[in-house]
Amino acid sequence: MRAVMKVDKSPGIKVMDTDRPRLGPRDVLVQVKATAYCGSDLHLYKWDGQAVKWNSPIPRILGHEFSGDVVEVGKNVTMVQVGDLVAGETHIPCERCYMCRTGRMHICENMKIFGVHVPEGSFAEFAVIPETIAYKLPPGTPYDVGALYEPCGVAMHAVQRAAPNPGDIAVVLGCGPIGIYVQQIMRALGSDVIATDIKKFRIEHARRVGAAREVIDASEGNVVERIKAATGQRGADIVFEAAGAGSTIIQSLDIVAKAGKVVLFGASPENPTLDTTTYIVYKEIDVLGLTGRYMYSTWDRVQRLVTRGLIDLKSVVTHTFPLEKAEEGFQLLLRGDASKVILRP
Ligand SMILES: [Zn+2]
Ligand SMILES: [Zn+2]
Repeated sequence: MRAVMKVDKSPGIKVMDTDRPRLGPRDVLVQVKATAYCGSDLHLYKWDGQAVKWNSPIPRILGHEFSGDVVEVGKNVTMVQVGDLVAGETHIPCERCYMCRTGRMHICENMKIFGVHVPEGSFAEFAVIPETIAYKLPPGTPYDVGALYEPCGVAMHAVQRAAPNPGDIAVVLGCGPIGIYVQQIMRALGSDVIATDIKKFRIEHARRVGAAREVIDASEGNVVERIKAATGQRGADIVFEAAGAGSTIIQSLDIVAKAGKVVLFGASPENPTLDTTTYIVYKEIDVLGLTGRYMYSTWDRVQRLVTRGLIDLKSVVTHTFPLEKAEEGFQLLLRGDASKVILRP
């Protein structure tokens, strides 16, 4: 089969022929119909410090956000059938540790990430996944939409952690795909949403999607003052930090209202110095962290909002390529000239 592969520990990829991954007794073989690029694919492409830290096996097939049709199942599979339309959850939990057995499989003590820790990902004609991470989509779901449940699930998780109240003012720092999904979900809940970013492409994209009342260009400075002005000086009831930078983490503590909530889920390479007494203790705020998605309440909730037309998963897609043109997708993303890019194997 054709696949987008990483063959050595240096920048770049190769589109080439490789063997189909082998099917174990509890696995399902999926014919991949749509698969989306994620930030982690860029780390692996560049083979930067983050990729080295993951200790990802090489050679490997990239990609983990995908949907497709089940074409074969292992002999012990009971929950999925040939012909099912599925999307892939990325967390591969051990199903045995304390976290797995107490409702938080997505932070399993022995977590493996599909597309990062296992050698075969979804940028290929076929992918093999354990049946526990095959999520059955409603029949008729377009493949591109199915491939985007996984990143939207992170946004849903952020909102679930924040547990918003009616009429909340929400500020979303960052207008990447997940930031845009948070904006849409919060608007669907009736929140007043304000967003920021520093990149022109993302600011314009967020304005076109239109889920935020105002999208502030943070590169023009005075972000804190402008957000305070837009929130009646009180600040935001909830700040979602979806940019993953030291400066936006500090900003989030500054712009949150007293007794508000800050939700951190951008992975920041920097460790900012924080005045926790002024900004957390005296303001009595809740700081919430999260990674990945609850399995599977985030998926079910995304499905309900998608089915009712309250959020539009395809709104973040800016480019689509055939598998053979995978390099073009990487180049666009590395230049910052794209939001979500989809490959169609
Ligand atoms: Zn992802
Ligand atoms: Zn576990």
